[in-house]
Amino acid sequence: MSYRDSSSSFSVSEELRLIPRWSIALAVVAFVGMQYLFYYVFPHPHLHRAPVPLRIYFSTSWAALVAVYMLMIGYISEDAPRRNMGKWLWILLCIVLQGGIGPILYFLLRQPLLSACPSCGSRIESDFHFCPQCAYRVAANCGSCHNGVRSTDVYCTYCGHDLASDNLPARLRGGQN
Ligand SMILES: [Zn+2]
Ligand SMILES: [Zn+2]
Repeated sequence: MSYRDSSSSFSVSEELRLIPRWSIALAVVAFVGMQYLFYYVFPHPHLHRAPVPLRIYFSTSWAALVAVYMLMIGYISEDAPRRNMGKWLWILLCIVLQGGIGPILYFLLRQPLLSACPSCGSRIESDFHFCPQCAYRVAANCGSCHNGVRSTDVYCTYCGHDLASDNLPARLRGGQN
């Protein structure tokens, strides 16, 4: 019997797939727009005397930075609701706090992922034992002391209670698989 925690299955490609189309479009526009600004709107006299590779290096690195920022805002706009965090508040913070402080704060402070109830699909916070909408038991816990137990445990690791004597032994033992 394998015990699999859904919050541990983290993959970068799945996270990247969260980035919405509008933010990818915004990133492309920002990248092209930055090149335009760099070469036509604010042609810095010193820079234009610089060798071409150096100019390309500066313009693309600045543009890439802005483009990544757009993607970051897009990611946060999709990621925040999954964690029950205010989406518009964080988008606003990312725009207002310059220099990348918004996203840094976001990644420092972000809450754990909400999972979906296997029975009805409502959002469940990580410390819930039962679904708030349908009372499905999402985490195995001891019938005596109510501490969390692993679904493979036979006795409670906190109080030694025999878990098989609880009302829902089948779900406690195998409901997670
Ligand atoms: Zn439910
Ligand atoms: Zn117990």
